[in-house]
Amino acid sequence: MEETLRFEDIPGVEWVPSPRPFITIDASKCTGCGNCLRVCLAGVFRLREKKAEVASLERCMECASCLFVCESGAVDFGWPVGGTGYRSEWG
Ligand code: SF4
Ligand code: SF4
Repeated sequence: MEETLRFEDIPGVEWVPSPRPFITIDASKCTGCGNCLRVCLAGVFRLREKKAEVASLERCMECASCLFVCESGAVDFGWPVGGTGYRSEWG
């Protein structure tokens, strides 16, 4: 079986988890369309009772895709100071 490549296993790559929540969902605006779940490669979101919620920001890469695919404006996204996600020694 093929093994999944993890960023932690790549030489020169450091994973920086978020020190605090920087993405929130306004449940009153969320339609439960699931676009944020489909676009997020980091598995940040989950649906509960037809509303999206942040399950874990641990693997968020700050790509902001969730912000742009949410047509109802329910995603509140603020760039965390210092950044999160993966950083490499090549920039
Ligand atoms: S910024 Fe990117 S990685 Fe982070 S939650 Fe949004 S879609 Fe997922
Ligand atoms: S994309 Fe927006 S409206 Fe759709 S489930 Fe995610 S937060 Fe809710």
